[in-house]
Amino acid sequence: MINLQVLLIVLVLISSLSAAIPLCLGFQPATFSDNCCLNPFLADKNASLKDCVIGLANEPEMVEWMRKIRREIHKNPELAYEELATSSLVRRELEEMGIKYRWPVAKTGVVAAVGSGSPPFVALRADMDALPIQELADLEHKSQVDGKMHACGHDAHTSMLLGAARILKELESSLQGTVILIFQPAEERGEGAKDMIKEGVLKDVDAIFGVHIIHKFPIGVAASRPGQFLAGCGSFKAIIKGKGGHAAAPQESIDPILAAATSIISLQHIISRETDPLDSQVVSVSIVQAGTSYNVIPESATIAGTYRAFGWKGFRDLRERLEEVIKAQAAVHRCSVKIDFDGKEHPTLPPTVNDERIYEHARQVSNLIVGEENTKVATIFTGSEDFASYLEKIPGSFLLLGIRNEKIGAIYPPHSPYYTIDEDVLPIGAALHTTFAYSYLRNLSMCSSS
Ligand SMILES: [Zn+2]
Ligand SMILES: [Zn+2]
Repeated sequence: MINLQVLLIVLVLISSLSAAIPLCLGFQPATFSDNCCLNPFLADKNASLKDCVIGLANEPEMVEWMRKIRREIHKNPELAYEELATSSLVRRELEEMGIKYRWPVAKTGVVAAVGSGSPPFVALRADMDALPIQELADLEHKSQVDGKMHACGHDAHTSMLLGAARILKELESSLQGTVILIFQPAEERGEGAKDMIKEGVLKDVDAIFGVHIIHKFPIGVAASRPGQFLAGCGSFKAIIKGKGGHAAAPQESIDPILAAATSIISLQHIISRETDPLDSQVVSVSIVQAGTSYNVIPESATIAGTYRAFGWKGFRDLRERLEEVIKAQAAVHRCSVKIDFDGKEHPTLPPTVNDERIYEHARQVSNLIVGEENTKVATIFTGSEDFASYLEKIPGSFLLLGIRNEKIGAIYPPHSPYYTIDEDVLPIGAALHTTFAYSYLRNLSMCSSS
């Protein structure tokens, strides 16, 4: 009788254990040759991973759930640092899945973890904020908040990452480490990622992966590139101080307008005379403010503008030269100057530079999920992303995922009031996120055990 009870308990334990490990993965650690870090993808293992993840991501109930989440967020867009309902939705779904999270992080952000709870750690990121735009697309689930709209696809990013969370939770017992899920605020303000980093979300994280949907590519196409990808976007505001006085007696004044004028001209020489013509950079002075009267030399003049470059070195060098040139021109004209590069109303975003090793991993993941024919090498883009702030700290890769579908009007660029997406992108994004993290941890484990 006692033996029978023990046997029954053992049988129950075995059946619950096998239920926790999806049979479709059948993952077993293996011994590999020394070069496995260079060639970490093994066809047989990947075939089962691909089938498993794509299968889970495309289950009708899963697809419908992601669509519902995306539409719920789309109907109630929230601007930077106001994402209270969105992050409440994220927490609600994480709780439903039994995933632990930290909140609030950087005011409204949520950081969750799936896996063993131990290193190695790999991070996946989604942004949650909307834009101050009046939606003009005529959709049943259009924005219900006047003057606010998800016109950059962050509602889809959040939904995809929740989809990935759900798949990863199903695969949790076979994860070879921990996946950190970052739901960040305020991407559009260029500050969300920096604030999340300040709160320690990258602590001990080996690598990070991010996706942005884009109208430039048809649905199902994924594009990225190694190294320089998106431009860094910096801003500056220089207040040049002279000495005000009567315009009829300039010798008794120190004219800040002259210093501002020569600064503007000299700044253009940085691009035309110092920069490699094949290395795209921009300096634009877009604000000039000085004076109120025809016969008064003003006390001060303000110039402000933006600068862009694609590489970290070029970006930092450009900022350094901007500062040198304005200070030197102010000095030539006996003025003093105060230059602000980090004003809240014009945050600086570094260039988005993909780590070549992580890019290669992401490219192979993309080959697996959308196929080699749909995995493209993107050109450089002049847009900027605050994902770049993560890439400044740790290696990672950023990927653009197509949503273009003429039949449903998904043709508009981000920030258009008509912005529309093909929601078929949701399971693709969830599968890419999942596979990136799962195989990254698996490969690390294989390499360390070889
Ligand atoms: Zn945007
Ligand atoms: Zn965006």
